Amino acid sequence: MSTTSRSAAPTGPPRRVLVTGGGGFIGSHLVRRLLELGHEVSCVDDFSSGAYANVAGLRDHPRFSLLTQDVVDPLHVEVDEIYHLAGPASPVAYQRDPVRTTRTIVLGSLAMLELARRTGAKVLLASTSEVYGDPAVHPQHEDYWGNVNPVGPRACYDEGKRCAESLFTDHRRAYGTRTKVVRIFNTYGPRMRADDGRVVSSFVVQALTGRAVTVFGDGSQTRSFCFVDDLVEGLVLMMQADDDVAGPVNLGNPVELTVTELADRVADLVGHPVRIEHRPLPTDDPCRRRPDIGRARELLDWSPSVDLDVGLKATIGHFREVLELED
Ligand code: NAD
Ligand code: UDP
Repeated sequence: MSTTSRSAAPTGPPRRVLVTGGGGFIGSHLVRRLLELGHEVSCVDDFSSGAYANVAGLRDHPRFSLLTQDVVDPLHVEVDEIYHLAGPASPVAYQRDPVRTTRTIVLGSLAMLELARRTGAKVLLASTSEVYGDPAVHPQHEDYWGNVNPVGPRACYDEGKRCAESLFTDHRRAYGTRTKVVRIFNTYGPRMRADDGRVVSSFVVQALTGRAVTVFGDGSQTRSFCFVDDLVEGLVLMMQADDDVAGPVNLGNPVELTVTELADRVADLVGHPVRIEHRPLPTDDPCRRRPDIGRARELLDWSPSVDLDVGLKATIGHFREVLELED
């Protein structure tokens, strides 16, 4: 199901594209979009936080191939473009084995940079709004350096991505590697994992199955949620942009709401009463987050178009199917 009209951006001739983490939530949408645009797409994934089911339907596609391996391990492919998304993304997934998280993010980024340097490919890093930590500046503009606790439970992810950004920038400066960095803000949609602990998937699954919706803390912390189709268009536009558009560029939806407001939206949309249960706020949970997307508008002519209710309905529909629930 598509909830958004696709951008008419010219895509040029077909290219050989590598998507690391292509078996994950965002990656599996990106892979489909790239195939739709006529490209040859290889996906690298070890399925540690993604799911084979996300790409199983593409197995017989003539322009799709799958390499099941760790992104850190040697990879001998010839490519024109690399979207580097591999790595756990939900706090539950990245805190399960924090040392492995840092290793994946840092060594995986280095491996993709070396591949890009050898092949002359463009390489795009899926960085994160987490580089801003618990931001002292609001909304977050790319020039803000962030407020990250380097020894907290989120550091493996936050500092890992900050190191990856630094590697991307130094590779460009030192070797002329064709790097691009985007900072992705909270993204949601079909094919999130039901058990990944992220707020949208958790609230939707809890509400659909009649369990209490778990609001951490008093629910006044804010996030800004971008529907995955919009995000994927931003990734493709960033890759298509000239080489001198290196980023970092924020990609996210600037509509900000509290976690309690999100719980209320989900409750309204599932169509039956939902009980809220408060749980302790996790350590270092950022109080607020909203992207300044001026740079993406200016450089990529990109802004999100999917309204939260429309995106949530699509997500609820997906989980109804996965959980085999009646409408
Ligand atoms: P996801 O967990 O669904 O996808 C990540 C994929 O990477 C999974 O399929 C996983 O199996 C794979 N992977 C993990 N470690 C690997 C390794 N060592 N080798 C090979 N594959 C490995 O997460 P997502 O939400 O699709 O996120 C994709 C990317 O976008 C991540 O890099 C994440 O940091 C970034 N990002 C996502 C969000 C968001 O809201 N979803 C926000 C900011 C940044
Ligand atoms: N959250 C919540 N209940 C949940 C899961 C998350 O209240 O069951 C809160 C969490 O504390 C955070 C926000 O929702 O304030 C977003 O959490 P998520 O893990 O989705 O993303 P991130 O914290 O990385 O932005």
